[in-house]
Amino acid sequence: MSPVDLSKLSKFYKKTKSEKIDSLLQAGVISKEDATLLSENGLELPDEIAGNMIENQIGRYSLPYGVAFHFLIDGKDYAVPMAMEEPSVVAAASFAAKIIREAGGFRTSLTDRRMIGQVALKSVPDVQKAIQNIEQHTEEVLSRANEAHPSIVKRGGGAREVHVRLLEADTIEDTPEFLVVHLHIETLEAMGANIVNTMMEGIAPYLEELTGGTALMRILSNYATECLATAECRIPTRLLKHGSFTGEEVRDRMIEAGHFAWADPYRAVTHNKGIMNGVDAVVLASGNDWRAIEAGAHAYAAKSGQYRALSRWKKGENGELVGTLTLPLPVGAVGGSIGIHPAAQFTKRLLGYESAAELERIIVSVGLAQNFAAMRALVTEGIQKGHMGLQARSLAISAGAKGADIDKVVNQLKEAPNMNLATAKDILENLEN
Ligand code: NDP
Repeated sequence: MSPVDLSKLSKFYKKTKSEKIDSLLQAGVISKEDATLLSENGLELPDEIAGNMIENQIGRYSLPYGVAFHFLIDGKDYAVPMAMEEPSVVAAASFAAKIIREAGGFRTSLTDRRMIGQVALKSVPDVQKAIQNIEQHTEEVLSRANEAHPSIVKRGGGAREVHVRLLEADTIEDTPEFLVVHLHIETLEAMGANIVNTMMEGIAPYLEELTGGTALMRILSNYATECLATAECRIPTRLLKHGSFTGEEVRDRMIEAGHFAWADPYRAVTHNKGIMNGVDAVVLASGNDWRAIEAGAHAYAAKSGQYRALSRWKKGENGELVGTLTLPLPVGAVGGSIGIHPAAQFTKRLLGYESAAELERIIVSVGLAQNFAAMRALVTEGIQKGHMGLQARSLAISAGAKGADIDKVVNQLKEAPNMNLATAKDILENLEN
């Protein structure tokens, strides 16, 4: 995306939908063609595409598609699309990104993008001999994998490494021994599930020959430990001051909250849910497989043997608050629904990402922003104040309010001692009477 004229986007949340589209156009965030597309609800999935995506399709399930601003990631500006049903997530992302932008923005780093495939072998007669045999034939295993999917090799990717793991029998749980062969595969711009699965199916008979065992299954692992993305932010305390709390107090309380989430799985799950609010919303908007990202992230959170916080917060050398987040992020820039869903294609244009690696950098930064916003609120005023303000809108609609009545119900709900559905219904009834 070319530099964004943020001044054109001020008070964006207060604008009508058509004013929002116009200001995105004026700010240089979207093209004229995309402004027309948005005005005509062009992000909707056409029935004929939906019907070819899944089996037994009978409808389409829509979600709000919003945009968060102020993201400065590795020196580049992004307006970040988020597909999400939960109020306050987009606002929190924008709010956090604004503070982090003033602090210099996000810095990211990536490992190589390698996906892992598994062949699980059972009933291997001599495990040591089998391991030795595989290790002596790794080049042949790799070349058979590559022969199974020649097009990815032509593009410059392919199988790179073979690893063997022995899962010992567990007499308590009564599970047998498994010899598991992993391939590390460069799938380039694709998430690669189909590439990996094809390769694993391609090498399984050869592995059976080498080991004398039987292949139980051949499949991608969604625990993508060879495809990690890290984001970091460094925020001076002058930007952390909030209400009656000094910047130093907010910093220290956030670090303590991080320790709490590190130590306690009950807290860690909620802490990580907040991170995934941002991650999932962008993954979904980009047309990627959010179940794959969710499953991998939670496994990574438990890599020490205990489920822990995915992010870390500490004090930097100059007293600043330093936040880091590392996630397995095997997202694709091609494949799956990315090329066929109009909203995923629009996301690509809006973000202007040029590679899956760049998309990883954006997503991990959004996760860290979301975590910052939630933790800052939790250790200061609590999240209900901001959250319920936005929740009021959903309550008003659930109560049956329409058109101008929505704002009237929202305004009265915000003043009510109990903001809940019953109150919303009462308010609406009074208005109608
Ligand atoms: P696809 O098979 O849809 O697409 C990947 C293909 O895109 C490649 O095989 C390649 O085909 C083509 N391609 C074009 N340009 C490039 C490029 N620059 N780099 C790499 N590939 C390129 O997608 P994936 O294999 O990525 O699989 C993702 C889908 O699989 C998702 O929909 C996911 O939900 C689903 N899935 C997930 C599973 C899991 O997570 N456990 C299991 C099974 C499926 P070519 O070279 O031949 O042109």
